[in-house]
Order: sequence, then C-alpha cells, then structure tokens
Amino acid sequence: MTDATDAPRPVCAVVVVTTGRPSLAATLGGLAAQDRPGDALVREVVVVDDRPLAAPALDVAALLPGGAPWPLRVLRSGGRGRAAARNVGWRSVRGERTPWVCFLDDEVVLPRGWAADLAADLADVGPDVAGVRAEGPEETAGVAADVAYRYDALAGVGGFDERFPRASREDADLALRLRGAGRRLALGRRRAARSARPADGGGLSRGVAVAGAAALAAVTRRVARTVRRLHPEPWPPRVRAVLLDRDGTLVAEVPQLRDPDAVRPLPGARAALDRLRDAGVAVGVLAGRADVATGAVSAEEAAAVDARVDELLGPFDVWRHCPHTPDAGCPCRPPGPGTVLDAARDLGVAPYACAVVGDAGADMGAAVAAGARGVLVPTALTRDAEVAAAPAMAGDLGEAVDLLLAAARGGERLVGVARPPVPALRPLRSAR
Ligand SMILES: [Zn+2]
Repeated sequence: MTDATDAPRPVCAVVVVTTGRPSLAATLGGLAAQDRPGDALVREVVVVDDRPLAAPALDVAALLPGGAPWPLRVLRSGGRGRAAARNVGWRSVRGERTPWVCFLDDEVVLPRGWAADLAADLADVGPDVAGVRAEGPEETAGVAADVAYRYDALAGVGGFDERFPRASREDADLALRLRGAGRRLALGRRRAARSARPADGGGLSRGVAVAGAAALAAVTRRVARTVRRLHPEPWPPRVRAVLLDRDGTLVAEVPQLRDPDAVRPLPGARAALDRLRDAGVAVGVLAGRADVATGAVSAEEAAAVDARVDELLGPFDVWRHCPHTPDAGCPCRPPGPGTVLDAARDLGVAPYACAVVGDAGADMGAAVAAGARGVLVPTALTRDAEVAAAPAMAGDLGEAVDLLLAAARGGERLVGVARPPVPALRPLRSAR
C-alpha cells in the first residue's frame, strides 16, 4: 500500500454526516469512483447517521452495490445535529495514525480527480494550517461541505461546538477558535459541488491560499458575539454528570449475576462515587439486561441485584439499562449511544456535559457516539486495541475521578486529548 520512495503521504479518514438524504448514495458513489481508491490517502470512511435512534439502521450496503473499496464504518449520533455528528466521526478515528479528517456533507458530489487533489492539498500545507477547505460555491459564507482538518487541531480545541443548533455556524466558530490557537484555514485546489446545483465555473485561484480572509473574519466576528451571548462557558463545557458501567467498573463482574448477596463493590468504588457527589456531580449507572432478555435471569432477580448495588453504592441519580440481547442490533447497547443519551435526558444534562466510565471499548464507543467524555478503567480482560482507542484512561476508579473532577472544574477537556501515561493494569477481579 505505501510507497516507500515518495515523501510521506498524508493519511486521512473521510467522515460523511448524513441525515438520510437520498443524495448520500451519490456522495458515497463519488468516493468509490475516485481513481486509485485503494490509495493510502483514505484510510477509512466513517458514515455518521444522524437520524433519530428510532429510525431503522442505515443500509449502506444497498447504497454501494459494488461494495466499498475502503474500510467503512457506520456510527449513529442520534439526531443531535451536524456539529455533534461530526464530533462523533472524528473522535472515533485513531488520530495518532490518521492525522487528517475530511468532512463531507451527504449532498456533496465529488468530481473525478478529487482524491488526488485532496492528497495534494494536504501535502502542500505547513504545520500552521489546521484545515484545508475545498473550493466551492459556499466558501464566502464560511460554510464548508468538504473540509479537511488535522486531527490534532480538532482535539486541541475540543472539536465542533455542539451548542450551535444551525449547521454552518459551528464551522465559523471552529475557525475562530483555531485562529485563537494560532492556526489558520487554507483554501485547497480540490472542488466539490452540492448535488442540488452544478459546480460553477468560477475562476478561484488554484493552489493553497488563505481562505477568503475578509469574509471569514466577518462571519467569525458575528459568531463570536453570538457565542459570548448564548454560551458564555467555553467549549467543551464542564462535566456535570458521570455515568458508570455497572459490571467490571462498579461491582465485580459475575456471569448471570442473580444473587444480591453476590454483589461485590470493587475496591475504592464507594469512595470514588462519594468524591463525585461531594463535588456536586450527578452520578448514574449504565447496565445491560441481556441475561433477562435471554431468560437466564428473571426480571425480579435483576431488580434485586440492582437494589443491592444501590444499597451498597447509591443513591444514584439515574439508572439506565439496555434490555436487549447482544445480537439485537439495538442502538442502546454500547457502543450505541442510546443508554447514555437516555440517562442524560433523565438527568436534564446535555450529553456533552456527561462522562462515561467503563472497562470496555464498547463503553468508550457509547461515550463517543453520544458526544460524552469517556474514561477507560481497564481490567486484564480489556484488550490492547480497546486501550489504544480509549479517549482517556485511568488505572483505577480513583484516578478516573481525579480526571473527572478536573473536567468538572473545567480544567481538563477529556476530548481527543493526549492520554495520560498508561498505568499498570489493576488485578482482574479483585473482589474474588
Ligand atoms: Zn438495547
């Protein structure tokens, strides 16, 4: 795949946010039709389905009858808007090996040669450039239907501000915050067109240049005023609620746990929870009810176990369960966002002000899909790949709470930031 004789090629993930518009097929088809689709440029394509979770799963295979020439993942963001869906996309990418993320709207049509132009755009720019936008009919409005950002630039500012309800404002706001961080956007040579209108023949300068500086400055000044009025708290906001996985994080994992007397809190769990409560942070529990769904455990037994957990470690502000079997394909079972979004709604806290703590990659996937912060507390059962992909990591629940309390004070963002040093794994089932 890689060509050792060339200079290092830029590597990017393509994130396509869709609201289920029929034009998604043309966008994906245009990607698949690029020359050299197996080029190392595009490491993977992430389709973020931003329809409500009640909608049936998106059938991407039907949209790409010839198959996808690149690894393809589909994530669900639960209808929270374009900024939130874009965050789900880039945060799901491994930034250390995929330094660029290119965002496409689901109505963009890619001309032939787009991939080669994107490769040239990304190869041309210096480290001060945080992102490169395509030429297109929208550039003067600060709207970008095809824009590539450096992963580390996104992580450095916490990504898109999800508090902007209208698409396009979040682009201008991001440009503003990147500028505040000393970085700039550039205009690339690649072109993309919205499917609703043909590409115009406008003779914008080719090559990389500072993007329409005056227009962008005007938009960003307007956005800055809006931000200060509507959102005095910087993005990302403080953590106000922490949702913890039950089995393997709060209590020892016991297969088909049905006996309340067998509930064993993990060491330090009580103290860790109390520190969060003392700081005014809401605390909730996320658990699966697959054993009830399969009939292995009765609903009464499961309820008695939860009551015992509550007695030992509660009171909790919210409990949320996925009632389905693992093969049900439901959007509530981690890594789906459903239980996290439901718990956030119950608490009256925005998902982006929540954090999820768990011992599995699926818990972190649920956090990313819901737009919440994630902290992995691995056990010996946690796989290396789950550790490597975790948004943040702690050696035990006490260390996790240290990070979370810093995030509750606004001193730690916990979104796509460099992970703390990997601590030694704690014993697997310390209660045994
Ligand atoms: Zn479920």
